[in-house]
Amino acid sequence: MVQFSMTYTNSPTQEITFNNQKFFIKRDDLLHKDFSGNKARKFYFFLENEFKDVKKVVSHGSCQSNAMYSLSCLCKIRNWKFDYYVDHIASYIKENPIGNYKGALENGMNIKELEVPLEFEKETLFIPEGGALEEAKFGIKILADEIIEWAEKTKQEDLKVFLPSGTGTTALYLQKYLPFEVLTCACVGDSEYLKKQFNHLESQNHPTILQMEKKYHFGKLYKEFYQIHKKLKMQTDIEFDLLYDSLGWLCVSKYLSDEENNILYIHQGGLLGNISMMQRYKYKFDS
Ligand SMILES: *Cc1c(COP(=O)(O)O)cnc(C)c1O
Repeated sequence: MVQFSMTYTNSPTQEITFNNQKFFIKRDDLLHKDFSGNKARKFYFFLENEFKDVKKVVSHGSCQSNAMYSLSCLCKIRNWKFDYYVDHIASYIKENPIGNYKGALENGMNIKELEVPLEFEKETLFIPEGGALEEAKFGIKILADEIIEWAEKTKQEDLKVFLPSGTGTTALYLQKYLPFEVLTCACVGDSEYLKKQFNHLESQNHPTILQMEKKYHFGKLYKEFYQIHKKLKMQTDIEFDLLYDSLGWLCVSKYLSDEENNILYIHQGGLLGNISMMQRYKYKFDS
């Protein structure tokens, strides 16, 4: 084990009221200033274990991704090189880097506007897009144990855990390790895609998927996303992520908004990504 043990875990749980309903929020956004949210949980395995031969991490995805930024933090802490492959970077982002992209560049990321190579040098660790990998369960089990301990200590009854999904990795492994029902919604692709993602990692014990009637496309701007984001901020004084949490809270409002439900909502971080989203939202709806 390396020296980072006991940091980057143990986030607080807080009670809030939203639209006159009580919720608990697991504040994984507060894990650490830079390495936080569910990406910190998913990549915790790579922070904590010895990787004698690794010199470089390679990954790919969008140039505003939360996973990209978190990997840049991991590589900075571990003194690894970080190569990140993207299809395309819009010229306005190249010229004025903001949010995750800016942060990752400052952490030393080498961005490559190229296809992901099929082979790498020996000392390379390849992380699939969004951190959808089995090693993620190492850190997610720690998250589950923190939730179990809190629920016992505070004597929770009929607790349900909710979190919005991208790859579904976090929700799936939480359901694996938690004795409570885990509910989620698909933010990237539809519910069928999310089921496939679950099956890719494990064939049973899947979380429950809640579905909105309207189809939402990942990364697109929706007035109701912006509205619920602002409402949450106003009523709870907590900033939630605009890509996943806005849909997450719309889903919670539709299906779980009554006093019978005792919900723990997992705040999965991603706030650095809000800077560029907020710019786009303000431009579209406030000007
Ligand atoms: C990555 C991310 C998710 C999705 O996590 P998955 O494990 O891929 O389902 C949700 N919320 C935020 C803020 C994220 O950064």
